[in-house]
Parts: sequence; structure tokens; C-alpha cells
Amino acid sequence: MTAAVVGVDIGGTKTAAALVGPGGEVLERREVSTPARSGPKAVLDAAAGLAADLLGAAGAGPVGVGTAGTVDPATGSIRYATDSLPGWTGAPVAEALAARLGREVRVINDVNAAALGECWAGAGRNRAHVLLAAVGTGLGGAIVRNGRVEAGARGAAGEVGHLPAPGADRLRCGCGRYGHLEAIASGTGLAAAYAIATGTRVTGRAVADRAAAGDEVARQVVDRAGSVLGAALAGLVALLDPAAVLVAGGAAGALLPAASAAYAAELPAGWADVPLLPAALGADAVVVGAARLALEQTE
Ligand SMILES: [Zn+2]
Repeated sequence: MTAAVVGVDIGGTKTAAALVGPGGEVLERREVSTPARSGPKAVLDAAAGLAADLLGAAGAGPVGVGTAGTVDPATGSIRYATDSLPGWTGAPVAEALAARLGREVRVINDVNAAALGECWAGAGRNRAHVLLAAVGTGLGGAIVRNGRVEAGARGAAGEVGHLPAPGADRLRCGCGRYGHLEAIASGTGLAAAYAIATGTRVTGRAVADRAAAGDEVARQVVDRAGSVLGAALAGLVALLDPAAVLVAGGAAGALLPAASAAYAAELPAGWADVPLLPAALGADAVVVGAARLALEQTE
């Protein structure tokens, strides 16, 4: 029997670690608020502390980490991170955690980890080729090919958020440009579109809640965002030929009805049987995927 593995999730708000069993099941989980404002050393100390607590019950192999930011696939350090983790750009995550834990540490981006987790024990179980879109405050994505995350040249493959999107031309993307998919199909995008339509600024979650409660303008904003997302994902199916497309993240539930309809309508002939599915692991996806990364055979 394969021994349990430790997976770590470093996010801008919370940091978690879990002991994950051989079938991808979470056996034990720890979580703290990320000390983001105290800088990268404090964040690494917090992550190492959580992982060290669980290592006694794990096998002797590597520890896996999923983190916010773009990860250099060669070194496991952070190539680029947003202000959600100040100073995180350049942080030598793999090296620093290996020094603290006395183990090999493997690091990937958190959305990539979530995709690995879903393919191991969630909605993409037993599928070797998957496209995942993560709709939260922003819009991230990941590509799994032959059971492994496609890193790309700079660890940033799968970022679906910067495709051009109809109806987003007045909305600013997280990257600073206008007209991108993330600018409309994300929590930030819902808030911005609702503010333009009503003059009222509320959070993306509040827009989704208002839509569910019958606010007609909110419903139109949510449906528009979902439709644009679904159509974009349908186009990507022809590019990537996945076995399934998964939608994860806090805004997934609100966007999925409209996204599913647009996806079905836009899916090119020949890919009509590729399903669009809600992700299944929720907040555990990153720690489970990080654990999966730790188990991968290196060639
Ligand atoms: Zn963009």
C-alpha cells in the first residue's frame, strides 16, 4: 500500500496542509490564516509548520505544494505573484520548504494543483485529458494532459482568462487590459458589470446572490458572464481535445447554468460528448492535487 502524502495549499487568504491517502482522500487537514502582510518568510514558516505537523504520519517521499502565483517549473520558485501575497514574486518556495522540512518539495501553481486533484479524486477522476477553469475573484485555468499538468514554457499554460471576450470591452481585466474573458467571467467582472448597469457597487458574490433572489439586472449580468465563459470553453475544447471540462471556484455555481447552455450550443461537431462538469473537491482540491504531484514518478 502506498503511504499517505502531505499536500500544502498556500493562498493569499489561507494556508492549508493535509495528509492525503493513497486514493486521494483527505485523512487530516490543518489550516491557518496566511500571514501575507508579514512577508514571504512568515508565509513559508506557516506552511512548513502545518506540513511538519502531518509528516510523522506520511511516507518518506516528497511533499507537494500548490501556491498562488506563477511557478518556475525548473526551480519551484515564484516567477510572478499578485499583491495578494506581497513579496511572493521571487520566493524560492521549493528550496526554502525543503530546508525547513528535510524533504524534497515539489511546487506548482494552485489552479494547476486543483486540476490534478480533480483528475485524481474529483470530477475528472480517471480522465487523463482535462481542461479546468477556476472562477473566483479572477479567472484561472489549467490543462491536464496524459495525467500531468501542462506547465508551458514559463509555468503559465492554461490561463484562459485573457482570451478576448464579447461584451467585455468596457471591463478591465486583472492583467490591466480591457476586453478579456476574466474581465466579465469572474467575481470582479460580475461586480464591475453590475456597477455599470445600476450605479451600485457590490461584491461579485452579492451580485450572484441578488440574481438568485430575483434581481433582474443581476440575473442578466450573471447569465451574460456564464454564456461568454461557456462559449469560450467550447472553443477551447476543439483546441485541446480534453475528455472533460471542469468549472471550479466560488462563482462556478452561479455561472454554470448559463455556461452549460452556451457551451452545448457552441461545441463544435465532433466534440458533442465532451461534458462540462462542476468541480467536486471544493476547498480540498489544491491540497489533494499537491499530494498527487508529490506522488508523481520523475523521469
Ligand atoms: Zn487579461
